[in-house]
Amino acid sequence: MLEVFASIQGEGRYVGEPQVFVRLRGCPLRCRWCDTPGSWSAQGREVRIDSRRGTRREPSLSTPFQVACWVAECEPGPPRTVSLTGGEPLAHPGFVLGLASFLGPRRLHLETAGAHPRALEKVLERVAHVSLDLKLPADLDAPVELESEPAEPVPRTRAEWAEVRAECLALVAERDACAKVIVAGNRAPEEFDELFESTAEHAPKLPVCIQPVTPVSGIPAPSIELVTHVAERARGLGLDVRIVPQVHRLLAIP
Ligand code: SF4
Repeated sequence: MLEVFASIQGEGRYVGEPQVFVRLRGCPLRCRWCDTPGSWSAQGREVRIDSRRGTRREPSLSTPFQVACWVAECEPGPPRTVSLTGGEPLAHPGFVLGLASFLGPRRLHLETAGAHPRALEKVLERVAHVSLDLKLPADLDAPVELESEPAEPVPRTRAEWAEVRAECLALVAERDACAKVIVAGNRAPEEFDELFESTAEHAPKLPVCIQPVTPVSGIPAPSIELVTHVAERARGLGLDVRIVPQVHRLLAIP
């Protein structure tokens, strides 16, 4: 566990909704534009809790019940939707299931990189919404194995990514879900075709949120022309497309 805090959903289908965010530690992927590299390691001593009474730190190793209590502490008003993010929450499917059982009236949303279809299948019935990243292999450095829970193997090749992407899309196709595609300025429009073709085949009704990258680590922001070209390639396949920048960055909130 890395942090629990209240904020506004800045991405995807529920952009703008006040939520509580539960950020788990541990991610085997290495997206070149990752804006939360502090969440990569599954090891860590402390969790930051931004409660109504102020910020404090607790031991990182925490139970789902404990985290559900922290969620209630962080809510400034009536119960909010809880967004489970990372890191990669599906590196810890047992924790996801445990937390779901302690959240009371709150909806649980899952943000995932889409690399673990078996774990997604396991938790799917217990989450109200899935925000599924569609990763461009060219945007990824080599993955690493996590030190903690044994998870299913992480895709490494373009063919392995195509396989897990198709599986994840099929799993969320008829559910409350969306796909998220990050567009960096160093990509060409046609590079995204493999993501959109797979979506059109396996989840044609899934809303696709195209998100201009927030520049980090020397990765350039895309031009509006590039973003528009990418969006039109998706629309050309009949997909339901929205262009959504990271709203929480615009508002300068966590
Ligand atoms: S999947 Fe998420 S946390 Fe992991 S490297 Fe990519 S952006 Fe960062």
